[in-house]
Amino acid sequence: MFVDIAKIFIKAGDGGDGAVAFHREKYVASGGPDGGDGGRGGNIVFVADDNLSTLADFRYKRKYVAQKGENGRGGRCNGKKAEDLVIRVPRGTLIKEVNSGRILADISDKEPVIVAKGGKGGWGNTHFATPTRQTPRFSKPGQPGEEYEVQLELKLLADVGIVGFPNVGKSTLISVVSEAKPIIANYHFTTITPVLGVVRMGPESSFVMADIPGLIEGAGDGVGLGHQFLRHVERCRLLVHVVDVSGSEGRDPKEDFRIINDELKKFNPELAERPMIVAGNKCDLTEDEVVDDFRQFIEEQGYKFFPIMAAIAYDVKPLLQEIQEQLSKLPPITRYEAEPAPVLSEDEIGKQEVKVTNHGGVYFVEADWLLRVLRMIDFSDTDSLQYFQRVLISSGVIEALKNAGIQEGDTVSLYDFEFEFVE
Ligand code: GDP
Ligand code: MG
Repeated sequence: MFVDIAKIFIKAGDGGDGAVAFHREKYVASGGPDGGDGGRGGNIVFVADDNLSTLADFRYKRKYVAQKGENGRGGRCNGKKAEDLVIRVPRGTLIKEVNSGRILADISDKEPVIVAKGGKGGWGNTHFATPTRQTPRFSKPGQPGEEYEVQLELKLLADVGIVGFPNVGKSTLISVVSEAKPIIANYHFTTITPVLGVVRMGPESSFVMADIPGLIEGAGDGVGLGHQFLRHVERCRLLVHVVDVSGSEGRDPKEDFRIINDELKKFNPELAERPMIVAGNKCDLTEDEVVDDFRQFIEEQGYKFFPIMAAIAYDVKPLLQEIQEQLSKLPPITRYEAEPAPVLSEDEIGKQEVKVTNHGGVYFVEADWLLRVLRMIDFSDTDSLQYFQRVLISSGVIEALKNAGIQEGDTVSLYDFEFEFVE
């Protein structure tokens, strides 16, 4: 079965905790703090694997959790960082956050992509020694790793997508122009998985063609087979629309052409704008006049037309040359950009939980959501800092600090970030 969509849960490892420890040595009465830092939690990393062509593996294993970083130890020993958890997916897989629908990554290139970051390790008590605080009896816990419910969506990477009604000869065409060997048979929906084929035009030039399973009317609305496959033509730079000009199955080729174009448009209006070449197949089964009439119908609408007999590879050369010619002028295959996390609204910020604890005059603020805010703050930028101050007030952090008894000049510790409290 061809699986090109899957939902999984990913969680990066939490950071290891910082240690509380003091230097101990014979004859030395009391040493200074020497608790090491925790190690970073493992990231969740995605990488494209060309040996995979479906997302079938993800139907059985749906939870991916990376290891926690090692805790810090005495003697200034920092904990080891945890190994990344690498998840292999077919090239062209999009990773979307389920809740917001935003794109986290497009796994289309060689480089592995970190999709969920491991939490940073907490600081050991060594960091908290000051001239007035020589024996800090506290350290910080590791930060939580990022976690997401994600939808994996395969969107094939092909230069050219072949579209058309079932049984018009799409698979036959790709089989005669590339090394791809899809199943070809004289019944509908023989092809139920998209097939990629490399078409070699010369020693240095080639392009990738995708045989997309037959579309039927209503595919754009999710009726019948075909809808799920339209996703795979979305990245194609060029479409080749194969039509059975002979109407060998009692259908009207002009009507077929119109229906498929409507389906493409319904699925994604951008697809209707995609450059398209029309191949009239099964010319052997009809008269020249019928082909000429169809040619006129197509050319009037501004498309190039190529009559072929795919089964015997007759006249496919001019079609391939036109494809190559058009591709050379088109932009490269689309890569999707990761979309940034939405900024919390004032309203949402007011509803978040805040926990403040006081350890020897240092006020620790704990709030997972603040990590998200902190990641977006540029501390060298005044506007950004002012936004941060507003967040601290509207979220009730300042109030919580006051309730905990903070005084002017005391230290506030917010994960990696420390500042002096001023009214
Ligand atoms: P698809 O469903 O569009 O992929 O169609 P296939 O490639 O599986 O072909 C459907 C049927 O049409 C098969 O029996 C092919 O042998 C036949 N066919 C393909 N090209 C031609 C052609 O040029 N002439 C004729 N007469 N039959 C063809
Ligand atoms: Mg087919």
